[in-house]
This record gives sequence, C-alpha cells and structure tokens, in this order.
Amino acid sequence: MTEKLFHGNPTSKGIAIAPAFVLAQVVDIAETNVTASPAEEKERLQQALATAHTEIHQLHEKALQRLGKEKAAIFEAHEMFLSDPTLLQQVDTAIEQGESAPKAWQAAFEQQAALLETLNDPIFSARAVDLRDVGQRVLRILTRRSTDVNEPDQPSIIVAENLTPSQTILLPKELTLGFCTVQGNQTSHVAILARGLGIPAVVGMPAAFLDAVHTGDAMLLDGKAGLVYLDPSAETLARYRAAMERDRVEQEASRRAGQQPAQTPDGRTIEIGANLGGNGRVEAEQAVQLGAEGVGLLRTEFLYMQRDTPPDEAEQVEAYRPYLEVMAGRPIIFRTVDIGGDKPLPYLRLPAEANPFLGKRGIRLSLANPDLFVTQLKAILRAGANSTGIKIMFPMVAALDEVRAAKKYLAEARQALEKQGLPYAQDVEVGIMVEIPAAAVLADVLAPEIDFFSIGTNDLSQYTMAADRTHPEIGKMADAMHPAVLRLIQQVVIAAHAAGIWVGICGELAGDALAAPLLLGLGVDELSMAPPSIPAVKAQIRQWRYEDAQKISTEVLKLSEPEEVRRYLRSLPQSKQG
Ligand code: PEP
Ligand code: MG
Repeated sequence: MTEKLFHGNPTSKGIAIAPAFVLAQVVDIAETNVTASPAEEKERLQQALATAHTEIHQLHEKALQRLGKEKAAIFEAHEMFLSDPTLLQQVDTAIEQGESAPKAWQAAFEQQAALLETLNDPIFSARAVDLRDVGQRVLRILTRRSTDVNEPDQPSIIVAENLTPSQTILLPKELTLGFCTVQGNQTSHVAILARGLGIPAVVGMPAAFLDAVHTGDAMLLDGKAGLVYLDPSAETLARYRAAMERDRVEQEASRRAGQQPAQTPDGRTIEIGANLGGNGRVEAEQAVQLGAEGVGLLRTEFLYMQRDTPPDEAEQVEAYRPYLEVMAGRPIIFRTVDIGGDKPLPYLRLPAEANPFLGKRGIRLSLANPDLFVTQLKAILRAGANSTGIKIMFPMVAALDEVRAAKKYLAEARQALEKQGLPYAQDVEVGIMVEIPAAAVLADVLAPEIDFFSIGTNDLSQYTMAADRTHPEIGKMADAMHPAVLRLIQQVVIAAHAAGIWVGICGELAGDALAAPLLLGLGVDELSMAPPSIPAVKAQIRQWRYEDAQKISTEVLKLSEPEEVRRYLRSLPQSKQG
C-alpha cells in the first residue's frame, strides 16, 4: 500500500489515527421512474412519511438519553417538517401531474430549503439544513436504501460527503475520533460541533477523496493543517505519534495550569468565568475542566431561537438547571435575552428595522414585552431556588430609566413567585452590561443602582467606533484594543470602584491573552471568556505583578492607535515573575 495525501480545509485542530468509517451518502434517485398511478404514489409517500415519523421519534428518544433535552429538540423540528402543509401540498400536486413520489418529494423539499437559504439569515439557513436532513431520510425510505445503520463499531474517523445534524448528533462520541467531509465550511454544523467537542476535523475535501476511501481503510487526519492521509507510511505515523504525544503533554500542562487561580505574584486575584450559551451540561462541564470558576456570561438567546413560540417558564427552568448543577454554587451570570433587530423572532412579529443594531434589541425588547421578560426573570429565580451565586444581568442598557424599569419587573417576578408559593433564589446580584458608550460615560450614575458591571467589548467597540461589527470591510474598525474603547473601560472601572461595586469584562477582549496584563492593570475584577481561552489567560495573569500591570495600562492609555497598543503589548517581556 502506498500512502496517499489529500488536502482539505483545517477545521478543528488535533490529530486522529484510526480506520475510516464512511457514512451513507445522499440518495441518488435518478432511477426512480413512475411505475404506479398517482394514487399509489401518494400512498407510497404516506407510508414513507409514517416510517420517517417512527424513526425520528426513536432518534429523539435516543438523543434525549445521550444528549439531553436541548440538543434533542432538533428532532421535534424534524417531525414538524413531515407534516408541513405547504411542502405536502407541493408534493401532491407534482404526483398528480405524473411525477414519482421520490422525485416529487425531492423537488419540493429542495425548493423549500433553497427558499430558506435565499433569506440570508443564519437561523433560516440552519432550518434549510434540517429540512434537507429530513428530506434525505424520507428519500432513503422511499427508495428502500439503508436507513440509519450508520454507527461505527470501533473508534473511527467519520468520512462523509456531508454530515447532517442528525447524523452528527447521534454519532457515539467515544467512537468518533475525527470528522472528514467534502462539503461544509468553518461555520457548518459539523465544524462547530467538532470544535465544541475538541474532535479533530477537516472539511472541504476534494470529491476524489471519497472515491478513494472505504470503510476500514487506515487513515490519519491532521485537523490543524487540513491534511488527510490514506494508508499512512510507518514514517508518517511515527512523526504524527510523536506530535500527538507532545500535544497531550501540552494539553495536560495547560489543563493543570487552568485549575490554578489567576493570582498575581503580589496577591491580586482576578475571577475567571466562562461565556456559555446553548450546549447545557456538556459545555458547562468542559468549562469547569478548563478552569472556569463560574459562568461570567450565560447567553440565554439559545432558548428563544429556531422555534415558533417563546419558551415557557417551566421549559426555561429545565434548560437552566444543568448549568446550575454543574456549577454547583459557583457564580452564574444569567444575561436576560439579547435579541431583536438582526436576530428576528417570528413569534414576536418584529417589524424590519433600517438599522437593527441601533434598534429594539436587548433590554429595549424585554421592556417592550413585559410578559416575555417577567417569564424569563421568574424562570431564572426559580431555577436558582436551591443554589448560590445567581446573578442577573441586563444587556444593551443605555439609560438610567431602563435599569430602574428592569429592576421593577424583577421585583414583580419575585412577588409573583411569592404569591404562587414557589421557592426562588434569594440573594441575587443584579448587574448590567456596559456595551453602549452612554452607559460607560454615565457609569457613575448607573453604579449606585446595581451590584456589578460587565463590559461587553464586542458591542462597546462597534458603538464607540460607529462600525458595524459584522460589516465585511469596516467590521475590523470595531476593535476593542482601540484606545477610545480602552479609555471607556478605564472610566467604568473607576466609577465602579468608587461606588464599591465590582466590574468584569465578558467581550472577546477578555479572552485575548495579549490583553491580560493591560486589563489587569486597568483594575478589572473579573474576566469571562470562551472556555478554551481560560488556561492561557490565567497563565498570563499569574506572570504579572499588579503594580507592573498598572504601569503598563498607564502607558497604553497614552497611545492613539490599536496597532500601537498591540505592538507595545507584544514588546513586553514574556514573564515578569516575582
Ligand atoms: C459584547 O457585546 O461584548 C457581548 C459580550 O455581548 P454579545 O457578543 O453577545 O453581543
Ligand atoms: Mg453585546
């Protein structure tokens, strides 16, 4: 056997050496010509839909056990597609016009999926993926191809043309050592899942790779370089085994370091939290393993999206519970829903806005929808009934009256629970995000109303620079290292400490190890970030004396451009121990 090397796109770093497991491909229906009457074709479709219902129901049960309620909910959405009236009407019409059931079905679901994609919205694009997933399932049943016999029986690298959400979600994690697909990009489902689980992955493989690979073939995948070897040579294997061992040792050291507090040699401790939102127990456990001392930002939006009705109180209590269980008394900051504008919710019937980032989002939306807001506040309070460390934070605050109004609704939520005789969290700290320049400038006015500030540098940068953070060209102007943003951070810290409250940062800047001495020097008390950044940021904080970090921040605040700030920070000696 000679070694063959293929190039794809680096997607999730890490090395996997294992046999390939090739998943069933998209069904080819070229051969399915009409052999029966329209009535028979319709009957065939009905039976296939019923079988699909049963299969999806079983998958739902399996996913509930393996992955919990949130992840399993994807299959509820799948079941709904099976009875979508528009879709079914379209198929019926095509069958009546003489089309076969598989062809009519495929044309209909492809057309609907394409329609969803043209809306150019990540939520609708995700629905299109789900619709194709269900569509392929029904096609497989209609054409009597293999259904879900799609699990490896030994640790393998999963190879596929494309991985649908239902395939990805159900792969047993212990047998999935890597992913390798022809389709997909950095933001596709498989890429996000692979990174979330720390599984090496390469997507965007050449189509020729699929012709060359068979289940059981010896395979080596390098997720960082985007390389895939079939029948790797002894020399390649040895080289990569050595690299894996180095990675393992490094990861172990970084994990151990992550468990130590972020304390400077002269005794100042910065609290380190995780930014979470959507993956429940799995992401919370991973965060703790990486050294999170709590959750500094729980983005609760995940509960409200990709659905047709808002989540009710009981559902929210259930969704928050895994976070509380895993964190076991460590602090958790529940950020009330930050949605609207660019992330529309169909059930709120929000009118389109010319400038969504300047529109009704965050606390503005919550205050305009008191039922939605009080339901969420009650759910957070109820979920935290037997826990400590519960904190509530309001996003997108621009003005004092918003803080007062939000607190009034919080009091209302407490009263309602009291009246219902339901237990709820007692000592709850209340804070706001500082992500609008007005809130930063008026921090001294807002501070007496609350218990903490958390600075959202992602939005604070875009609003300070008037540069849409998602804009392909000017998005980079929304740079949190801009001295204009840094001066606002300094102002907030001074106002917070003068009022005797603590201040954290939960924007992406908090997870940038380069910025760690600067943020330490500015006097922030807490940093919250994506869990994988925790070990490196903690290590940085431990290297700097607070006194020296203060000198660094004083120097940085004299600079005028973000690039000067970066250059200065890069020029600092690596270690200032002792
Ligand atoms: C921020 O704006 O910095 C922030 C943390 O909030 P989000 O990124 O969710 O808008
Ligand atoms: Mg924000």
